[in-house]
Amino acid sequence: MARLESAELDLDVWPEPLPPPYPELQRRVKGVHGLLTLITDRIDAPLLDAAGPQLRVVSQMAVGVDNIDLAACTARGIPVGHTPGVLSDAVADLTIGLMIATARRFFEAHADMRAGRWTTWDPMGWTGPDLHGSTVGIIGLGRIGRAVARRLQGFNVRILYHNRHPSLHADALGATYVPLDTLLAESDFVSLHCPYTPETHHLINARALSLMKPTAILINTARGGVVDQDALLHALRSGEIWAAGLDVFTPEPLPPDHPLLALPNVVALPHIGSASIATRIKMAQMAVDNLLAGLAGQRLPHCANPEVYARA
Ligand code: NAP
Repeated sequence: MARLESAELDLDVWPEPLPPPYPELQRRVKGVHGLLTLITDRIDAPLLDAAGPQLRVVSQMAVGVDNIDLAACTARGIPVGHTPGVLSDAVADLTIGLMIATARRFFEAHADMRAGRWTTWDPMGWTGPDLHGSTVGIIGLGRIGRAVARRLQGFNVRILYHNRHPSLHADALGATYVPLDTLLAESDFVSLHCPYTPETHHLINARALSLMKPTAILINTARGGVVDQDALLHALRSGEIWAAGLDVFTPEPLPPDHPLLALPNVVALPHIGSASIATRIKMAQMAVDNLLAGLAGQRLPHCANPEVYARA
């Protein structure tokens, strides 16, 4: 905010803690030259049209841009900024945390302790699978997926991965490319790091879950829509998979009475993958860099639709 204020812009800052309702956003964007957005703002063709043809840049404070209609922005010549890279380590840290917290039942054990259910040292009490020595399947070996793989080097695991294209970085990480079904069938942990696109919508559906081991754990720090949440609920209840560690949901926020939150084999977090203080500050700086570049008619340092420049 300090940088934007000193840039002498005519700023309209949404003052509420909750996101602007869509109709309100549609009213307020009229005539703006730049938009700084969060993942909670839906930026679609009608909103761009409501803004008007003078709109020069959309700058999102996130790496994922599934709330933004990129094709509609490109068609109007609007570059979309995002924040790749600066959050990869923070999300990877959280992913490893979720793997261990889920496998070793941190929250279940903590809740039992608080409720007075720690009565003895039980030989098989609160036991779960090991991360070390396991097979971890990474779906989406991109910036975050690779940061997860780097951390896993210390856990002596076998790493499988699946992308649309084999990754040039895989060999250095000791990661083996396999078809999706092989990854699902062989992994003890399946960790999602692909973007949410029409192609990845419900990539983890009932069929995918049925291929996983009954001892397997699903970790989702990507986007809620990559998983068919009803199918996941069924798989967790029926024992088709062992547990899930989830940072993202459909919808967000997930209602507190949602049945997933009542399951002992779910560790749930409120979309805090990138929520380290330093990371959020870097993301904000990058979002401002992108916004100011776009307003000045310069190429965005971090553009999610670089094809927009090929149009010119
Ligand atoms: P990235 O570097 O672009 O990596 C994405 C990876 O997914 C690439 O390896 C890509 O490889 C693969 N991929 C894309 N489409 C796929 C498909 N249909 N099937 C399988 N793999 C596919 O992105 P990133 O920076 O790592 O971020 C990944 C995602 O994490 C973001 O899009 C965002 O949704 C999520 N995220 C969540 C949080 C959080 O707070 N929980 C924070 C940051 C990011 P190919 O192109 O070869 O397929």
